Amino acid sequence: MHEFHYRWEFDLKSSPEQLWPLVADTNRFNRDTGVPSVEMVNLQAGRNARRLLRLSAFGIPVEWEEQPFEWVRPHRFGVVRRYSKGPISELRVRVELTPGSAGGNSSGCKLVYEVWAKPKNLIGLIAIPIQIGLISARSFSHTLSQYDELAKQGHTMSSGNKNAQFVHGGRERLLNLSQRAVAQGSNDEIVALLVDYLENADELALARIRPYELARKWDQPRRAVLETFLCATRAGILDLQWSLMCPLCRGGGSTESLKEVASQVHCPGCNIDFKVNFEQSVELTFRPNPSIREAEREIFCIGGPQVMPHVMAQQLLPAGQSRSVNVTLEPGRYRLRTVSLPGWQHLIAGETDEANNRLRAMPDGWSSAEIAITRDAELIFDNATDDEQLFILERTAWNDDAATAAEVTALQMFRDLFATEALRPGEQISVGTLTVLFTDLKNSTRLYREIGDATAFGRVMNHFDVLKQVIAEHNGAMVKTIGDAVMAVFRQPAWALKAMLDAQRDLARPPDSMQPLHLKAGLHMGPCIAVTLNDRLDYFGSTVNMAARLEGQSTGDDVIISSAIYNDPAVRDFLNDPANGLSASRFEMPLKGFDEERFSLWRVTEPHPFERNRNVEMPGETDLFADG
Ligand SMILES: [Zn+2]
Repeated sequence: MHEFHYRWEFDLKSSPEQLWPLVADTNRFNRDTGVPSVEMVNLQAGRNARRLLRLSAFGIPVEWEEQPFEWVRPHRFGVVRRYSKGPISELRVRVELTPGSAGGNSSGCKLVYEVWAKPKNLIGLIAIPIQIGLISARSFSHTLSQYDELAKQGHTMSSGNKNAQFVHGGRERLLNLSQRAVAQGSNDEIVALLVDYLENADELALARIRPYELARKWDQPRRAVLETFLCATRAGILDLQWSLMCPLCRGGGSTESLKEVASQVHCPGCNIDFKVNFEQSVELTFRPNPSIREAEREIFCIGGPQVMPHVMAQQLLPAGQSRSVNVTLEPGRYRLRTVSLPGWQHLIAGETDEANNRLRAMPDGWSSAEIAITRDAELIFDNATDDEQLFILERTAWNDDAATAAEVTALQMFRDLFATEALRPGEQISVGTLTVLFTDLKNSTRLYREIGDATAFGRVMNHFDVLKQVIAEHNGAMVKTIGDAVMAVFRQPAWALKAMLDAQRDLARPPDSMQPLHLKAGLHMGPCIAVTLNDRLDYFGSTVNMAARLEGQSTGDDVIISSAIYNDPAVRDFLNDPANGLSASRFEMPLKGFDEERFSLWRVTEPHPFERNRNVEMPGETDLFADG
């Protein structure tokens, strides 16, 4: 049958880079142009990420195999659909964005949208010219001019939604709850920005609200935005969700509780199993509470370029073929892989004379060397295998806008507001590198004897409050107390060290001529494992065991740090800054039950910042062997 071909040309004011996040978000574009929502026939992707999809249009079931989208950001993308049910046999779409425009506007772009459609039967022959030639043509033109306006104003997501749908009473509820959140101490400026966002953002943007992305857009501190969203969740404005990120496609489902996060996850799109890590594969995102606004739950397109914004180019090459691709890359590290070959090729884009722009996929995989490529390059993808290969060129830098589970669970406010957010009992998940702090009150037995049980108990409780506040101020979280001892975690060692010096200073200078307290403190950093212990999120591993031993080396007027902490650049800067008046002296400690026989430690002291109790003795060597 005759193949229909449509070609529309649009002169737009925005640049290809500005338009790409909107136009290449085919899920949004299809929804905005009136395409019915789609359903996956099976969750598992086929060869080279092919998908079996279906939808229903005017009561006619339509089913097709979708070839992988192909794109070169921000210049072109396209897709081919082969239908097994419905009035069409094949549909091809190709979108091309070229800088400059016919109107002589050099900052704008020319967008060419082309569709080829082959009818399968008489219905298709009649429907194609009406549905594509008339209806789609009109809605494409309308939607693209809307996107052009948004892109020109710097919006990367449709937030200029003028007729947001609230559920019945939702808007009043939002205003009441946000007033209450402010009354309870939330940052009023950020709450106002959040209310404005919830009033105006469209349903797709609301389905996955990323706090750090909004912090950047609003020019507000990340932690303040994250903490405001956590309070807003407790207040009933937002719901939190944990999004899983596959290490390859960075897609994945989401769950409402950490209890549903398993340590092993299968990505149906990439057909791989991956080990979940709180630092890289779990991101905290939010959505409005359904009593206020509904977020979009339907899917309109599965595999468009905006699903994987880290992928610069994706190209499907038949066996033995080559293809040249013009890319403009930010300087940095990239990798080239295919869906079916193991491993990947490391690339580095920058100014180089030794660029090697021919990149070959071989049957036995990739070269282990890092290849230099030029930033503005014509790359040649070369499929030297006997199979079709889907080439994927992607940035390796992890998305900086992700509020990772590792970061969020190490925040005091999160632990306070979401005390029950813990892992399923028995589950163990790596959280990456954490700084672990242990403290203990010096001579607490003597304190009880000298000032009496009741007063001493009050002082001990009060010291927990001081510690908790100082830890929270320095972006850390108190994990638990054990007798007079405290365990806390921080994402950065310098924060932990500053927190401890502050805490020691506060406790040694109590108001009203109370007896000063001396806090023994030790810090170590390294990989930790999250678990649930006594219904709370806790950590274990040799980093934790080691940190627990260091506090025993402290005199109560110093902080003991491991060499891992000492060698951290921010800690070194902090110690070396004469304004801080600190000194660090190295010593060694023999360690029972650890691989290294002797362990290098540093004792950090403030020589004369305040009145110190000089009667304390250094712990004897015998203490070092004491277990626990
Ligand atoms: Zn994946």
